[in-house]
Amino acid sequence: MKKIRWYDATTIKEAQQEVDTTVSAILQNNKRGTSIIKSGGLDVMDLMKEGLIAPEKVVNIRNVTGLDKIEFSAKSGVRIGANVTLAAIEKNSDIRNSYLALHQAVAKAATPQLRNMSTLGGNLAQRTRCWYFRSIDHPCLRKGGDTCFAKKGENEYHAVMNNGTCASVYASSVATALMAFGAVVEIADENGGRKSIPIEEFFVTPYEDIRKENVLKAGEIITAVVLPAVSDKVRSYYIKQGARQSYDWALADVAVVMEMAGKKCKDAKVVLGAASPVPVRAKGAESVLMENGVLESSALAAAEASMEKATPLEKNGYKVTVFKTILQRAILKATQS
Ligand SMILES: Cc1cc2nc3c(=O)[nH]c(=O)nc-3n(C[C@H](O)[C@H](O)[C@H](O)COP(=O)(O)OP(=O)(O)OC[C@H]3O[C@@H](n4cnc5c(N)ncnc54)[C@H](O)[C@@H]3O)c2cc1C
Repeated sequence: MKKIRWYDATTIKEAQQEVDTTVSAILQNNKRGTSIIKSGGLDVMDLMKEGLIAPEKVVNIRNVTGLDKIEFSAKSGVRIGANVTLAAIEKNSDIRNSYLALHQAVAKAATPQLRNMSTLGGNLAQRTRCWYFRSIDHPCLRKGGDTCFAKKGENEYHAVMNNGTCASVYASSVATALMAFGAVVEIADENGGRKSIPIEEFFVTPYEDIRKENVLKAGEIITAVVLPAVSDKVRSYYIKQGARQSYDWALADVAVVMEMAGKKCKDAKVVLGAASPVPVRAKGAESVLMENGVLESSALAAAEASMEKATPLEKNGYKVTVFKTILQRAILKATQS
C-alpha cells in the first residue's frame, strides 16, 4: 500500500505553501503528483480508491480558520464560506427563506451523512461522475487519452447538449442553483491575492480545455461563494430528477430564479444541470418568460425552448423529455412558492 503524508493546514497561506498541484494535473500526469487539497475528502478519497490519482501528500483544509461561516444580510446577500457543509446550508433558515432553490438543491444532494461531510468548495471542484472517466480501464480525453467512450457507449446518463468533444456532465447539482442566483466564487490566488469570479466563468468547457472542469490552478483555494441580495419579488425553485428516489446523482436538474411583477416576469435565470459538461443557462427559456410572463402556456414554451439546442446521444434521448417536464414544473412551482 502506498503511504500518503497528511498535512493539517490552519491558514490559507499555510495550505498554499504545502500544495503544489491539482487533481486535474495529476490525472494528466499519469496519476503521478505530489500534494493536493482535501476538504470533505469524499471526491479526493473516491479518486484515490478508483486508482485515478495517487498523491504523495494530502493537505487538509477543514481546519483553516474563517472558511466555515454563513454571513447573511437582507441588503447585501449571503456569503457562504468554502468549508461550510451542505448540511449547514440546508439547515440555515435565511437561505431557506431567501434562496429557496439553493436550499432545495442542497437538501436533494447525496445523503444526510454525505452532506455532513461535503463542503461547498469541494462540491464545486469535484470531478465528473462519468463512469468512463471513473474507470481506470478507460483512458478518456479528460485523462489524457484520445477517446470519449461515452459518445458511442453507455451514454444514458450523459450530456444532451454541448457533447461534441466530451459527453460527461458536471457532478455538482448545487452549482445549478448557485448559477441561477448569479453567484460569485471568491478565490485566494497563488500569489497571496484574492479574486472574485462569476460562477459562469468558474467552469471550463471541454471545448476550452478538456483537462479541466474549472479554472482553479495549483495553490488556488476557494474561500467563499457569494450570492447577491434578492428582493421580496424574487421567486425560485429547483427540481432534481435521479434514477432513484434515494440518494443519487442528477439525471437532470433545473433551477429557476425569477423576479416577478404579478404574472409578469421582469428577470429570469434558468439553469440546466446534468445537461452538458458544465451547468448551462437556458437563455431561450429565459426570453420566453420575460416576454410572456408566467402562465401555463409560457412555462411549456420555455421548457420547449430550453431543449432547442439538444443533441442527444443514442441512449439518452429520454433526458430531453425529462428536462422539459421538470423545467415546466419548476417554473410554475416557483410562482407558487
Ligand atoms: C454517493 C454520492 C452521491 C452524491 N450526490 C451528489 C448530488 O446529488 N449532488 C451534488 O452536488 N453532489 C453530490 N455528491 C458530492 C458530495 O456531496 C461532495 O460535495 C463531493 O463529493 C466533494 O465534496 P468534498 O467537500 O468532500 O470535497 P473533496 O473531496 O475534499 O474535494 C473535491 C475537490 O475539490 C478540491 N477542493 C476542495 N476544497 C477546495 C477549496 N476550498 N478550494 C479549491 N479546491 C478545493 C479538492 O482538491 C478536490 O479536487 C455525492 C457524493 C457521493 C459520494
